Amino acid sequence: LTPVPSDLEISRAQIPKPVDQLAEEIGLLPEELEAYGRSKAKVRLSVLERLQSQPNGKYILVAGITPTPLGEGKSTVTVGLVQALSAHLRLNSFACLRQPSQGPTFGVKGGAAGGGYAQVIPMEEFNLHLTGDIHAITAANNLVAAAIDARMLHEATQSDKALFNRLVPSVNGVRKFSPIQISRLQRLGIRKTDPASLTPEEINAFVRLDLDPSKITWQRVVDTNDRFLRKITVGQASSEKGQIRETGFDIAVASEIMAILALADSLGDMKNRLARMVVGTSRSGQPITAEDLGVSGALAVLMKDAIKPTLMQTLEGTPVFVHAGPFANIAHGNSSVLADKLALKLVGQDGFVVTEAGFGADIGMEKFFNIKCRASGLRPSVVVLVATVRALKILLPLLVAGGCRSNLRKQIQIVHLFGVPVVVAVNVFKTDTQAEIDLVCQIAKECGASDALPCNHWAQGGRGCSELAQAVKEAASKPSDYQFLYNTEMSIVEKIRTIAQRVYGADDIELSPEAKTKTDYYHQQGYGSLPICMAKTHLSLSHMPDKKGAPTGFVLPIRDVRASIGAGFIYPLVGTMSTMPGLPTRPCFYDIDLDPVTEEITGLF
Ligand code: ADP
Repeated sequence: LTPVPSDLEISRAQIPKPVDQLAEEIGLLPEELEAYGRSKAKVRLSVLERLQSQPNGKYILVAGITPTPLGEGKSTVTVGLVQALSAHLRLNSFACLRQPSQGPTFGVKGGAAGGGYAQVIPMEEFNLHLTGDIHAITAANNLVAAAIDARMLHEATQSDKALFNRLVPSVNGVRKFSPIQISRLQRLGIRKTDPASLTPEEINAFVRLDLDPSKITWQRVVDTNDRFLRKITVGQASSEKGQIRETGFDIAVASEIMAILALADSLGDMKNRLARMVVGTSRSGQPITAEDLGVSGALAVLMKDAIKPTLMQTLEGTPVFVHAGPFANIAHGNSSVLADKLALKLVGQDGFVVTEAGFGADIGMEKFFNIKCRASGLRPSVVVLVATVRALKILLPLLVAGGCRSNLRKQIQIVHLFGVPVVVAVNVFKTDTQAEIDLVCQIAKECGASDALPCNHWAQGGRGCSELAQAVKEAASKPSDYQFLYNTEMSIVEKIRTIAQRVYGADDIELSPEAKTKTDYYHQQGYGSLPICMAKTHLSLSHMPDKKGAPTGFVLPIRDVRASIGAGFIYPLVGTMSTMPGLPTRPCFYDIDLDPVTEEITGLF
């Protein structure tokens, strides 16, 4: 229709096919499906075993240039592209998208189901609670936080003997260690299974985690842009006996548990990663894990359904997996390894899986290659780089000025660092002129893109980007020469420097004293060979959001360095980057409403 109706109107006008019908069409067995209502279902991981010998389809990554705060259409292109591949090129195809956080949905950017005639439907279910995975993550994360503070209180107020008697209660006169306690004893080097045989020194080591309150790295999380929780004080009630400490909240999608969900490749792997999460350091400098707190089994229980990807569909009936949703600026920015692996088996050898990395190629894509692909072993055949005239106009004072020195050229070069061909998709807005679109395509080709095409999927659905689908198919048939940007055996500082210089264009990096101390500590603890997950603004290639284009001549400040041992990365914080966003004066929630009679939602986009 012209003009194109709102995203929500379009979504509501199309009745999705029943999810069991969709599942049958893509070769899932009824017992592999767990339906949540009529239009979405979780898919069991047993599919991977059943299709073990099936060759994978082609793997395509959608990334972008440096975006405006509204987003440049990567999700929309991802959806449009699978619609075009399946309906117009008649190829099996699957989109893998992240579950949106309530932060942007109620904040500035809105939802993430795509838009116009390239959307996942029903978009309101996609954008809101979906199948509850983010709630499960929040519950699991905050259980760890509660376990930390309660344990510190109990250790502060009880003798070794009292702690031991409570931690290993006597049942019918017999004390027995639980499996998680035996595993802690083994890590302490105590090879005993009979509680009665422990010496007082061993009891002391077993019952006292002795967490240093100033070195607790675990934060609470909530999936709302609630800036007033960035720094809080807990334990102020008299019942907490003076165990007061400063801590804070992160947004749930930046949590380590979200990253684990996105990177785990089986239930067992997820459980091990949850157990390995380091929550802080003891007074003697030893890392304390979720397993030490005794909580890791319970975390696996809370997360057991979240690990199954959710099956939905596009407006044109193409299958979509929605799974995990880490932000790309303050987390690793990619949907789950498991969704991609399942989809690659389901589409078969000649099919296509299109997955998306958040924000610009400097952030989401760099982490896709260096973190996600390293964890999964998967390698993409093509990167589709989404560009818009509106973002390039902001990035360059005039579209023409700077030409090949632009952000577009730099982002294409970043893709080439990994040896993968790049096709540029110019996401057309109705305000763009033909001359502007032609110019962006011309610049992209001059900068080394295999191809560059205007895409009209937002206004026309799959048929509006059938040329992009054809170009992607052609590029995917050529061999790519994939390589990682850095070897993980390099030191943490060298890895950060490599990303800063080769991806962002920085002259060098500068570590704060705190960042330096932590880096040394992580090396000492044996975490030095983990990959790096930079937390950096998405609004510039540099750490300065107002420096557009391809800035040079800057030194990247590393304010702090954290470690996500369960997820498996080191997490430097660049400049003033915060892990809890705030709300603007007029957030999106002003326009969101519900009709109590029809139950219709309005204002989501
Ligand atoms: P990204 O994934 O890059 O963050 P999205 O695909 O979520 O971006 O798109 C951001 C917003 O812009 C969405 O609300 C979408 O409906 C809108 N949008 C995307 N492409 C177009 C277009 N070509 N014309 C108009 N609006 C668009």
